[in-house]
Amino acid sequence: MNVHLINPSHVSFGTSVITPRWLYVLAAATPASFGDPILVDETLSPVDPSRIQRGDVVGIGVHTGNALRGYEIGRLARERGAYVVFGGIHATLYPEEAQSLGHAHAVVKGDGDLVWATVLEDCRRGVPGSIYSGGRVEASDFVPARWDLVPRDRYMWASVQTVRGCPKHCSFCSVWRTDGQRPRQGATDSVIEEIVQLRRLGFRYVALADDNFYPVTLTDLQLASRRGDTDRLEALKTMRAQRFDLMARLAQLPSDSVFFTQITMEAAEDPAFLDAMRQANIKGALVGVESVTPEGLKDIYKDFNLAGQGLVDRLRKFQSHGIHVLGSFIFGLPSDRPETFQATAEVAQRAGLTFAQFLTLTPFPGTVDFGRWEKMMERDPRRIEGIPLTRHWLIPQGHRPKIFSPHPLMSAEEIRRRTQSVWERFYSLGFIWRRSRFLKSMRGRLTFILISKIYRQMYADTGIATDSARIARSARWARWLAKPCRYLFSGRPMPELQVPERIPFDVSARFQQIEGGCHAK
Ligand code: SF4
Repeated sequence: MNVHLINPSHVSFGTSVITPRWLYVLAAATPASFGDPILVDETLSPVDPSRIQRGDVVGIGVHTGNALRGYEIGRLARERGAYVVFGGIHATLYPEEAQSLGHAHAVVKGDGDLVWATVLEDCRRGVPGSIYSGGRVEASDFVPARWDLVPRDRYMWASVQTVRGCPKHCSFCSVWRTDGQRPRQGATDSVIEEIVQLRRLGFRYVALADDNFYPVTLTDLQLASRRGDTDRLEALKTMRAQRFDLMARLAQLPSDSVFFTQITMEAAEDPAFLDAMRQANIKGALVGVESVTPEGLKDIYKDFNLAGQGLVDRLRKFQSHGIHVLGSFIFGLPSDRPETFQATAEVAQRAGLTFAQFLTLTPFPGTVDFGRWEKMMERDPRRIEGIPLTRHWLIPQGHRPKIFSPHPLMSAEEIRRRTQSVWERFYSLGFIWRRSRFLKSMRGRLTFILISKIYRQMYADTGIATDSARIARSARWARWLAKPCRYLFSGRPMPELQVPERIPFDVSARFQQIEGGCHAK
């Protein structure tokens, strides 16, 4: 009896950017008595059905974007006589769908770290349950990934996770509802051990695949202090101190290590945090800018962000602390106007972003936006290939609309076209060349162009293009470019690398500035 873990994708690139962490975490959560699981990441190459045998267990992790392909694999695995188990955010939200369309024997809701062993034992006994509740596992129980199983030569970046959950409540995001608003921070020992293991294998680039790397803001501390809520204040301080502890240990790793994470823009107001990030070699962060107008930010409950010149200044602060920003923007918000696209492109350029992504507003299940939209669509009888729009992830990829919510001023096609033109402008050769100025050598600048182009091919054209010929062409290009790109990211294996010790540091010094800020108010 073999255990297969499959990460579905409708497009394979041969080489991929980031390791799908869940595969390696569930591999580690698989008891030794089942042997090493067979891991399949379809962003590399499609699953080979002939490897699935009667009585095997096939675990398929799905988010909304790859659920349809996941269901295809589920049906195929069940036809071959395997036990089919679904997990991931989408299966957590729609377990019945995984059962009816993906032919699942069982669905794991929530985190799989602890419950996976029970699922496997039940399958071995031939009595899988239909639903398993994994819940939200506490940080102390996070399972470190099994990196000894990773095909080293196929990925540019590895991924570790240091915190799950996000205290914010953006209307387009499901993280705070699925992973919770209470940040669950992992112990630094196991995170550092994983990173050292990855570096021993030659991974120099590691994504800190966190929901929000900055779970405690200075404002949170000031508010707790002003309210005289000492318990809350102490808890926040501890969480913040753990962040600094982690970064102090990252800073002891080889200096050519590069980390990347996701963070809220409020970190720009926290120079001590940004400095610690730089020292830790966290050289880049995805920052959810979303909109450049105050109305747009209000639309999505993200008014803790700034707009206009304040936004540009905040984003530049990351840059002035040596942290490159991948800015993420959303188009199609109710308050967007035709001129918003141009204004966004200009802000992205003025703010000194190193990379940017321009997404169209998509109501994803589990979000506040989706709930509202689903209600509004009750009166809309439109279907594509017999599927209502409110189940857009079930529409075959080539026919899936790119824009879902009717906009008061612009047609869906206009939003898509304008979005595409912002991608084209931001990633035009001239602009990329100008952005590459931070690099000294010609080789570095050419590498930057290559990486920018591949990023655009992988994420723009395969995401928002409508015609399937263009999507296929982009995938081919990305596949072709990805291979040489991977060599640029690889490092020399360092089998001798030791786990850095924890350095005691003066926590109180980190808080002087916060308390001064509180008193000042
Ligand atoms: S978009 Fe980012 S900040 Fe907002 S809830 Fe999601 S993870 Fe948190």
